[in-house]
Amino acid sequence: MIVRLSRNYINLLLEEARRKYPIEACGVLFGSISGDEIRVKEIVPLRNVLKSEAMFQIDPEEFLRVLVEYEGKGLQHIGFFHSHPRYASPSIIDLKYMGLWPESIWIIVSHLESRITAYRIINGRIEEVSISIE
Ligand SMILES: [Zn+2]
Repeated sequence: MIVRLSRNYINLLLEEARRKYPIEACGVLFGSISGDEIRVKEIVPLRNVLKSEAMFQIDPEEFLRVLVEYEGKGLQHIGFFHSHPRYASPSIIDLKYMGLWPESIWIIVSHLESRITAYRIINGRIEEVSISIE
Protein backbone atom coordinates (compact mmCIF):
# COMPACT_ATOMS: atom_id res chain seq x y z
CA MET A 1 0.00 0.00 0.00
CA ILE A 2 1.32 3.40 -0.99
CA VAL A 3 -0.18 6.89 -0.89
CA ARG A 4 0.77 9.15 -3.79
CA LEU A 5 0.73 12.87 -3.06
CA SER A 6 1.90 15.79 -5.14
CA ARG A 7 4.45 18.23 -3.76
CA ASN A 8 1.74 20.92 -3.87
CA TYR A 9 -0.44 18.92 -1.52
CA ILE A 10 2.44 18.37 0.87
CA ASN A 11 2.88 22.14 0.96
CA LEU A 12 -0.85 22.69 1.36
CA LEU A 13 -0.97 20.32 4.36
CA LEU A 14 2.02 21.94 6.08
CA GLU A 15 0.61 25.41 5.37
CA GLU A 16 -2.81 24.49 6.73
CA ALA A 17 -1.27 23.02 9.92
CA ARG A 18 0.83 26.15 10.35
CA ARG A 19 -2.12 28.48 9.80
CA LYS A 20 -4.43 26.73 12.26
CA TYR A 21 -1.78 26.21 14.94
CA PRO A 22 -2.17 25.84 17.93
CA ILE A 23 -5.58 24.38 17.02
CA GLU A 24 -5.45 21.07 15.16
CA ALA A 25 -6.15 21.47 11.45
CA CYS A 26 -8.33 18.82 9.83
CA GLY A 27 -10.03 17.89 6.60
CA VAL A 28 -10.84 15.17 4.13
CA LEU A 29 -8.99 13.48 1.28
CA PHE A 30 -10.45 12.47 -2.05
CA GLY A 31 -8.86 10.51 -4.83
CA SER A 32 -8.73 7.10 -6.39
CA ILE A 33 -7.63 3.64 -5.35
CA SER A 34 -6.21 1.11 -7.75
CA GLY A 35 -4.74 -2.06 -6.36
CA ASP A 36 -2.19 -1.12 -3.74
CA GLU A 37 -2.02 2.49 -4.78
CA ILE A 38 -3.97 5.40 -3.38
CA ARG A 39 -3.71 8.65 -5.26
CA VAL A 40 -4.75 11.84 -3.49
CA LYS A 41 -6.48 14.15 -5.95
CA GLU A 42 -8.23 16.66 -3.71
CA ILE A 43 -7.63 17.83 -0.16
CA VAL A 44 -10.41 19.80 1.47
CA PRO A 45 -9.60 21.52 4.77
CA LEU A 46 -12.59 21.69 7.13
CA ARG A 47 -13.31 23.37 10.45
CA ASN A 48 -12.22 21.71 13.67
CA VAL A 49 -15.45 22.21 15.63
CA LEU A 50 -13.67 21.38 18.91
CA LYS A 51 -11.16 24.22 18.38
CA SER A 52 -8.83 21.98 20.36
CA GLU A 53 -5.05 21.75 20.52
CA ALA A 54 -5.23 18.01 21.19
CA MET A 55 -8.27 16.74 19.27
CA PHE A 56 -10.30 17.40 16.21
CA GLN A 57 -13.83 16.84 15.09
CA ILE A 58 -15.29 17.55 11.69
CA ASP A 59 -18.76 19.06 11.44
CA PRO A 60 -20.89 16.18 10.09
CA GLU A 61 -22.99 18.50 7.91
CA GLU A 62 -19.93 20.10 6.37
CA PHE A 63 -18.46 16.64 5.79
CA LEU A 64 -21.61 15.43 4.08
CA ARG A 65 -21.72 18.52 1.88
CA VAL A 66 -18.15 18.04 0.57
CA LEU A 67 -18.74 14.30 0.25
CA VAL A 68 -21.69 14.88 -2.07
CA GLU A 69 -19.82 17.59 -3.98
CA TYR A 70 -16.62 15.63 -4.62
CA GLU A 71 -18.21 12.24 -5.16
CA GLY A 72 -20.35 14.03 -7.72
CA LYS A 73 -17.08 14.83 -9.51
CA GLY A 74 -16.24 11.14 -9.61
CA LEU A 75 -13.76 11.19 -6.73
CA GLN A 76 -13.74 8.73 -3.91
CA HIS A 77 -13.47 9.60 -0.22
CA ILE A 78 -10.16 8.00 0.77
CA GLY A 79 -9.51 9.39 4.21
CA PHE A 80 -8.77 12.27 6.53
CA PHE A 81 -5.94 14.50 7.57
CA HIS A 82 -5.29 16.38 10.76
CA SER A 83 -2.33 18.06 12.38
CA HIS A 84 -0.31 17.61 15.53
CA PRO A 85 2.19 20.27 16.54
CA ARG A 86 4.79 17.51 17.04
CA TYR A 87 4.83 13.73 16.76
CA ALA A 88 3.17 12.80 13.52
CA SER A 89 1.79 9.60 14.97
CA PRO A 90 -1.77 8.75 16.06
CA SER A 91 -2.91 9.61 19.58
CA ILE A 92 -5.02 7.22 21.68
CA ILE A 93 -8.10 9.20 20.65
CA ASP A 94 -7.07 9.04 16.98
CA LEU A 95 -6.79 5.25 17.23
CA LYS A 96 -10.30 5.03 18.59
CA TYR A 97 -11.73 6.99 15.61
CA MET A 98 -9.50 5.23 13.12
CA GLY A 99 -11.10 1.98 14.27
CA LEU A 100 -14.44 3.37 13.11
CA TRP A 101 -13.06 4.12 9.63
CA PRO A 102 -10.80 1.11 9.05
CA GLU A 103 -10.55 1.47 5.28
CA SER A 104 -9.54 5.10 5.44
CA ILE A 105 -6.12 6.63 5.17
CA TRP A 106 -5.25 8.93 8.05
CA ILE A 107 -2.66 11.53 7.24
CA ILE A 108 -1.03 13.29 10.18
CA VAL A 109 0.85 16.51 9.63
CA SER A 110 3.42 17.95 11.99
CA HIS A 111 4.46 21.37 10.74
CA LEU A 112 6.97 21.87 13.57
CA GLU A 113 8.77 18.72 12.47
CA SER A 114 7.89 19.22 8.79
CA ARG A 115 6.75 15.64 8.77
CA ILE A 116 3.75 13.99 7.14
CA THR A 117 2.77 10.41 7.85
CA ALA A 118 -0.09 8.15 6.82
CA TYR A 119 -1.73 5.32 8.73
CA ARG A 120 -4.44 2.79 8.24
CA ILE A 121 -6.10 0.11 10.32
CA ILE A 122 -5.77 -3.27 8.66
CA ASN A 123 -7.31 -6.34 10.27
CA GLY A 124 -7.64 -4.42 13.53
CA ARG A 125 -3.99 -3.41 13.57
CA ILE A 126 -2.47 -0.03 12.85
CA GLU A 127 -0.04 0.19 9.99
CA GLU A 128 2.03 3.07 8.72
CA VAL A 129 1.52 3.58 5.00
CA SER A 130 4.35 4.92 2.87
CA ILE A 131 3.91 8.22 1.10
CA SER A 132 5.35 8.86 -2.32
CA ILE A 133 5.80 12.52 -3.20
CA GLU A 134 5.60 13.36 -6.87
ZN1 LIG B 1 -4.39 13.27 16.28
